[in-house]
Amino acid sequence: MTVRWAAPGRVNLIGEHVDYQDGLVLPFALAQHTSATVERRAGDQVVARSRGQENAFAVSSSPGEVEGWAAYVAGVVWALRDEGAAVPGLTIDLDSDVPVGAGLSSSAALECAVAGALSDELDLGLSPTALATIARRAENDYVGAPTGAMDQMASMLGESGHALLLDCRDLSTRQVPFDLSGAGLTLLVIDTHAEHSNVGGAYADRRSDCEAAAAQLGLSTLRDAEVGDLPRVTDAVHRRRAQHVMSEIARVQEVATILDAGRPADIGAQLSASHVSLRDDFEVSCDELDAAVDAALAAGALGARMTGGGFGGCAIALVRDGDVTAVEQRVQSAYDRRGWRAADIFAATPSHGAHRVG
Ligand code: ADP
Ligand code: MG
Repeated sequence: MTVRWAAPGRVNLIGEHVDYQDGLVLPFALAQHTSATVERRAGDQVVARSRGQENAFAVSSSPGEVEGWAAYVAGVVWALRDEGAAVPGLTIDLDSDVPVGAGLSSSAALECAVAGALSDELDLGLSPTALATIARRAENDYVGAPTGAMDQMASMLGESGHALLLDCRDLSTRQVPFDLSGAGLTLLVIDTHAEHSNVGGAYADRRSDCEAAAAQLGLSTLRDAEVGDLPRVTDAVHRRRAQHVMSEIARVQEVATILDAGRPADIGAQLSASHVSLRDDFEVSCDELDAAVDAALAAGALGARMTGGGFGGCAIALVRDGDVTAVEQRVQSAYDRRGWRAADIFAATPSHGAHRVG
């Protein structure tokens, strides 16, 4: 039997750098997706193929034994085995149109597609949340990337025309209506192509800044902090980091409320305020992201922000349909003026999460 699953990439509408502080995030699944076609084969090897490359590894491989892109596949097999599944020899063919390494979660798309296909092939009957957990363990415990739960949850649980409000404290979720086309709106994703060095080190620093601020307030995370607590954080840098986390969680709640009321055109101010907070208080933006946001706003975008971890990757801009061309042109001419490679700009459609396609 052959089983094929498709799982989408995602973009985070708002709620940045709050997942590891038990905060709220509001991502949605993209139309761009990765498909995984799984078939049994004789023996105890997994043969994975993607982008013209083939990599074979033992079904019983442990973390550290498979490197490179195939580690994401091996991680899912390992996590399923670790949960007690008997995994036979397999052939896994991957195909994807999710941009890789751009902050749109091609890694989660791959993991979720493989996890879903294996669950069906092996009759494991795992729920979407259980599959997201398997996929996250592949990324955290096998590949070794210390990411939160957002990417895999968005890829598994996304619904078309909706964003997913995810509470990172208990992984509870709620679908929030996000009908762009019905409101005459376009959400542009602007891939800056920028990649800055030492992103991992800066990410670890931001996490420890937040932990220090929470500890000073006698809290395990900043989720429970209140605005009046801020002056008690004595270190000025830690205080600014905490200010970002607390204000960002409040913005996520505001955006969810506005979207619940069916007014997607009115979330622009929160998106732009998120960018300013990430740029000034959390200090994770960069020139390419700032230039994309500034140009989009100057050309009439209702709101714009960096999305993802920062220091490169993508920005998003909420734009009235009639202003799309002007925004695209303004961003590209800002990039051209600075001598940067043109950005990739596309319209994001809130789409259905991972599902079986064959
Ligand atoms: P992002 O998830 O933002 O795209 P990551 O660095 O988390 O960036 O994951 C990108 C990595 O995931 C790639 O370098 C590659 O190892 C792996 N990957 C993602 N999609 C594919 C694919 N279709 N085929 C092979 N490897 C992939
Ligand atoms: Mg990733």
